[in-house]
Amino acid sequence: MADPLTQRYDVAVVGSGAGGGTLAWALARHGRKVLLIEQGDHLPAEPDNATDAGVFGNKYCTREPMDICGRRHDFPVHAYVGGQTKLYGAALYRFREADFGTLQFPDGVSPAWPLGYGELEPWYCEAEKLYRVHGAAHDDPTEPPRSCDFPFPAVEHEPVVARLVQRLRRQGLHVSAIPKAIDLHSTGNCRLCTTCDAYACPTHGKLDTEVACIRPALATGNLTLLTGARCQRLLTSGDGRRVTGMELDYRGQTRSVEADIHVAACGVVHSPALLLRSASAAHPDGLANSSGLVGRYLCGHNASFFFLPGLKPVPALHQKTFAVHDFYLGDRGFPYPMGVLQAAGRMPVWQHVDGWQKPVAEFIGRRSLMCFIMSEIWPDPDNRVRLAADGAVQVDFRPNNVRAFRRLRSRFMSIFRRAGYPAVLSSRHPGIGIPWHPVGTLRFGTDPATSVLDTWCRAHDVDNLYVVDSCFLPSAGAVNTSLTVMAQALRVGDRIHRQLEAR
Ligand SMILES: Cc1cc2nc3c(=O)[nH]c(=O)nc-3n(C[C@H](O)[C@H](O)[C@H](O)COP(=O)(O)OP(=O)(O)OC[C@H]3O[C@@H](n4cnc5c(N)ncnc54)[C@H](O)[C@@H]3O)c2cc1C
Repeated sequence: MADPLTQRYDVAVVGSGAGGGTLAWALARHGRKVLLIEQGDHLPAEPDNATDAGVFGNKYCTREPMDICGRRHDFPVHAYVGGQTKLYGAALYRFREADFGTLQFPDGVSPAWPLGYGELEPWYCEAEKLYRVHGAAHDDPTEPPRSCDFPFPAVEHEPVVARLVQRLRRQGLHVSAIPKAIDLHSTGNCRLCTTCDAYACPTHGKLDTEVACIRPALATGNLTLLTGARCQRLLTSGDGRRVTGMELDYRGQTRSVEADIHVAACGVVHSPALLLRSASAAHPDGLANSSGLVGRYLCGHNASFFFLPGLKPVPALHQKTFAVHDFYLGDRGFPYPMGVLQAAGRMPVWQHVDGWQKPVAEFIGRRSLMCFIMSEIWPDPDNRVRLAADGAVQVDFRPNNVRAFRRLRSRFMSIFRRAGYPAVLSSRHPGIGIPWHPVGTLRFGTDPATSVLDTWCRAHDVDNLYVVDSCFLPSAGAVNTSLTVMAQALRVGDRIHRQLEAR
């Protein structure tokens, strides 16, 4: 086979997750010659994925030294073809219309986006089709207008979940279906098992980016996938206006590759780190960093689990089917966005508990239905990714909007008690470290002084450099973020294809 690194490509994309993998599909389907570079490898679909390969198992997980909130950690890295979507819960939500405008919080502001919901809406439809989303638009007071139906009907609740849903509805709450990207039909691969969220699917029945995009893109013959290749830096022309190539660490050798267009899609931590590592005489503070904003405005979601224990063990069922959005934009006496409640897959969080508490946590966990709440963390410039003196990635992060988060938590504590779950367990702390569904470290916008990328995710400072992953989002809303990344990747892919065609 010819050496893939001696060829020239239309587009070279580094990172094969929600953003990079979807973009690769969007270009390959139009006949563009694409190279997709991924540091990890394929994650096999094996029966023991449901116990070992995921956030709660160490199989296939590597470690990387990282400074997080001032302390050095051996941070677990789940680097696979398909990125973090291999482990995601496949809840694919559109952002709510209000998320595109300015949102005022008790202690800060989430800014308006440079484009409205209407601009992304057709691409949300495309992304839902590509990822085979099962959903229903009714019963969600925040569901934005749609020009297409969900491609597939919502997943039905298991009886034990349906009973809880009934009790919530009796209190006047709107309980909606979680839109799920799964292959659920008579000949589909989805077995509706309990370990969808946080685990790799043992049957390829979850529509992660590898299954939905990368495999079909490879089948076109237009995509070359390079695994085990880590991009060290982007090389630029003397005047700094163009990326001329990517320097890769590939099978122990330093290699380079060239393309007309270069795309960083390494995720919210590693895309800014790559740009910072790519500093040059023309970009002394890091590539595309004339604004000084590369790595800043890391935001995402505060989150806390709820355990709703019963007397008997809960059977291993697919529980992640319902959500409550009634408090998305506030509550009586609290006129600020609060967030959402979502059912969780049955995650063995007891594996992260030490000492005598572990068996107690497991006993309760196995008898509980699990849910979580999420509330928005607004973008703060001091929450950021940068490089430590030895080149390791450093993340500085302090949660905000904690008042709204606690208010949402206590609201649901009372709701669950009224629903007949007296011993509801949940943490008061939103968590530290990297937030849930992190976004925002290379925000897009129209003004090069206040954003890194333009509204097509092209760097303001570099003509042929794009960043197409979670970094572009200026805020995180309070719903899961991946569908917005996928929709934007399809929108940007269409634009890059048309530009290359016009040439
Ligand atoms: C347990 C869990 C559950 C989740 N559930 C949901 C959910 O239900 N719904 C939802 O919307 N989101 C969910 N998410 C979040 C979602 O998976 C991420 O937001 C999304 O995958 C981010 O996409 P991305 O393209 O920005 O980056 P990623 O998916 O992280 O992909 C980045 C890729 O780049 C590669 N890479 C990084 N640096 C380099 C380099 N230098 N060279 C080569 N390759 C590199 C990485 O290995 C990785 O494959 C979940 C996440 C987790 C962990």
